[in-house]
Amino acid sequence: MIPANIPKATLAKLAKLGIHNRFDLILHLPLRYEDETQLQRIAELTPGASTQVEGEIIHSEIMFRPRRTLICQIQDDSGVLHLRFLNFYPSQQKQLAVGKKIRALGEAREGYFGMEMVHPKCRTIGEDTPLKQALTPVYPTTAGLPQATLNKHIHSALIELEMSDTLPQALLHRLKLPGFADSVKLLHNPPPEISEEALTGRTHPAWLRIKFDELLAQQLSMRLHYRKRRNRNAPRLPAHGRCTQQLLQALPFRLTQAQQKSLREISRDLEQPHPMQRLLQGDVGSGKTVVAALAALQAMENGYQVALMSPTEILAEQHYLKLHDWLAPLGIAPVWLSGSMKKKDKLAAAERIAQGETQIAIGTHALFQEQVEFQKLGLVIVDEQHKFGVQQRLALRGKGSEPHQLMMSATPIPRTLAMSYYADLDVSVIDELPPGRTPVITKLVSDARREEVFERVRRACMEGRQAYWVCPLINESDAMEIELQTAIETHQALRTTFPELNVGLVHGKLPPAEKAAIMAAFKAGGVQLLVATTVIEVGVDVPNASMMVIEHAERMGLAQLHQLRGRVGRGTVQSLCVLLYQQPLSELARARLKIIYENSNGFDIAQHDLRLRGPGELLGARQSGVPMLRFADVSQDTALLNGARAVADEILRDFPDAAQAHLQRWMANKHDYLHA
Ligand code: ADP
Ligand code: MG
Repeated sequence: MIPANIPKATLAKLAKLGIHNRFDLILHLPLRYEDETQLQRIAELTPGASTQVEGEIIHSEIMFRPRRTLICQIQDDSGVLHLRFLNFYPSQQKQLAVGKKIRALGEAREGYFGMEMVHPKCRTIGEDTPLKQALTPVYPTTAGLPQATLNKHIHSALIELEMSDTLPQALLHRLKLPGFADSVKLLHNPPPEISEEALTGRTHPAWLRIKFDELLAQQLSMRLHYRKRRNRNAPRLPAHGRCTQQLLQALPFRLTQAQQKSLREISRDLEQPHPMQRLLQGDVGSGKTVVAALAALQAMENGYQVALMSPTEILAEQHYLKLHDWLAPLGIAPVWLSGSMKKKDKLAAAERIAQGETQIAIGTHALFQEQVEFQKLGLVIVDEQHKFGVQQRLALRGKGSEPHQLMMSATPIPRTLAMSYYADLDVSVIDELPPGRTPVITKLVSDARREEVFERVRRACMEGRQAYWVCPLINESDAMEIELQTAIETHQALRTTFPELNVGLVHGKLPPAEKAAIMAAFKAGGVQLLVATTVIEVGVDVPNASMMVIEHAERMGLAQLHQLRGRVGRGTVQSLCVLLYQQPLSELARARLKIIYENSNGFDIAQHDLRLRGPGELLGARQSGVPMLRFADVSQDTALLNGARAVADEILRDFPDAAQAHLQRWMANKHDYLHA
């Protein structure tokens, strides 16, 4: 793919920049441009602006104090300018000898001797060397790969590569987008009259075309995956309404509008003969579990089995208990399966699943890792799907006919991000919290004022309420150990501080039975203050807990803080979340704390997070295996993203060849990924 005449050493450097073929070369777009199309008179130079001057060297000398410096004077018919070089080669010194005519490009500034340029880019010129006709691109590069070399290879690729448009003219006309070849050429060789701002700000139509193409390729490949899935078979699981009605009537609450709408969408999917892949998004506490339970019942009513998988034992266990409560009156007994069970019990559980004695199995990913064969699996529900990697989710796929899949996430994905990276899934959103919740009050408190926080905790617990005390991850490496250590020490200290309270401790390394016992005691109110590691981040539901203290909140991410805070504010009493932080705060930490303090809606927080960290971080486990966008920015290019979405189906329908050509051009080298 890469022309044979490029030396090996250069190839290695190009590879470092992610350039492996000619197409990569032409898409290696400039960071900025230099304007060598005009000349400025030396007398008219203004400080700060980057400009080009032309003149004759009238003086050149090396000074040794304060440090070795080459200083030259260049003169045109209006004045004299000093050029200053701290690092220079003998060849440069020769180029800048008295009598030579040069052009110098740089930023002018007021120096000791008057106007000067430091390290300008200099070119020796002859009698009538023409000015450049286009802005000079400056490319991102790597050590040992000069701009000139990069420029040369890019420009020959521009000539050699076949760059016919992948998209039909009529469509481009309608979308008001320029041609692909013209756009690429323009970005590498922009005529001088173009606003440099539109180029570096990536708002020029040529840039829009590149970004559109990238987004369109992403949409096309996701739509194709989506279609492929619709060609596979899954059991039809129509809603009969028997068990679901019974559960609805037994619930102490009515579903919110948003829950009902999501449930309708899921219910309709389950009736289809192809596998559902739906993401159910809802903020912490929005009531996803009951929707999942109703979906599960729809599958069970049709004689199919359901698997509900959670990322942690604590969470899986909570689901087990909750579903047990809800389903037992209907004569349904869930089976529990987790990695930490005794081998004998595990085998017994697996046996019941294989024999079809149980209709619903609840557990951790052990459900799919152990040799568990479902007799008739119809629906897989994955809670907190972002906690699972692509591989784990792939393992879910059953044998033979494929189960329907419902993925749930409490880490809201901003709409634009979902439209882009999750375009191959269907998405339901529960965008409303159940009524009767009182918003949580958030306080930022410096660790120096711990004592005051102790008082608040004491008062809350003495009034019959309960509190969490969260000790976060210290750092990423050997996190578990230190995290554990901190939690144990904090537990000791708080027991001394609160002799009158029952202080419990729960962390990831605790044996499951003990973990379950503590959680049960906390739920029942026997334990008033629960010291916890971030294991309680997901899903724990104890409505009487109305206070949470988070230590070292400055070290935590926005999503995590939001999840943790969502553990309180589940009852009707006013809840309080205290974020303890240690000075000094980094700028990022300060920004995060401000956002979490000012916002309570998970989607708003996620939107801020997207701006703060970019999409890669936010997608979490998903990012491995997902080609990230290089040119488009989903938080800014919303209009383009909408456009690409809108035309993707049309192109697949009306211009299948164009779709193929486009994917071939943009995706040929990307390893592509699936939502299994
Ligand atoms: P999440 O979406 O975070 O998983 P849960 O499903 O755990 O939330 O629900 C949080 C709490 O709200 C639970 O105690 C649940 O029983 C309760 N709940 C769910 N739906 C409603 C509703 N429509 N009205 C009142 N309470 C509800
Ligand atoms: Mg949940």
